Amino acid sequence: MKIVLLGPPGAGKGTQAKRIEKALNVVQLSTGDMLRAAVAAGTDVGKRAKAVMEAGKLVSDDILIAMIEARIAEPDCKNGFILDGFPRTVAQAQALDAMLKGKGTKLDSVIELAVDDAALVARISGRYSCGACGAVYHDQTKPSKAEGVCDACGSTKIVRRPDDKADTVAARLKAYHDQTAPIIPYYREQGVLKTVDGMADMDQVTKALGKILGREVPAV
Ligand code: AMP
Repeated sequence: MKIVLLGPPGAGKGTQAKRIEKALNVVQLSTGDMLRAAVAAGTDVGKRAKAVMEAGKLVSDDILIAMIEARIAEPDCKNGFILDGFPRTVAQAQALDAMLKGKGTKLDSVIELAVDDAALVARISGRYSCGACGAVYHDQTKPSKAEGVCDACGSTKIVRRPDDKADTVAARLKAYHDQTAPIIPYYREQGVLKTVDGMADMDQVTKALGKILGREVPAV
């Protein structure tokens, strides 16, 4: 199954994509995670992306398209994937359609998580994650059981993203509305778009996604 999860920063794409990854045995492809790994490793792509990401802007389409094209050709993507953070522009959406068409396939489902801007700022600013296993937490809505310790793997490597600071969040939301939101009508016209209320409780959102995908997705 080939799925795209759309939505503004803080909509819950990463959390939901991880649940779907497990339930459907597909690979979660987070372009944000890939870029952060490239920045940490100091690769050419990482060097080009670092300042852009810190400013809350979008990294260029050519970098992202090449990155996804290479990634979906890897063997672990054979059973399908869930894209989280890609596409983020109409040009990326068109390139994705073209690359899948070239392989004789297409997207099965494009799902938008719709969330109000005001809620996003609160969600993003309290967010942190486990640097070892990637489990995501929130100061108010989903704190880890023991402070500074990951519930899932016990690691104490807790990380907060530098671009989750309030001033950068505003730039990220602007980039979403200006450059990413136009892909919603693009997919709607293709008849593949479904929208889920991302303001609902996290587990309710998971349930709604499972219904669309025709599979029960456990809320873990
Ligand atoms: P995310 O983790 O999805 O919020 O992405 C973090 C940052 O990585 C974004 O604010 C962008 O700077 C960059 N990024 C991730 N995915 C893309 C994409 N598909 N196109 C352009 N920039 C991206």
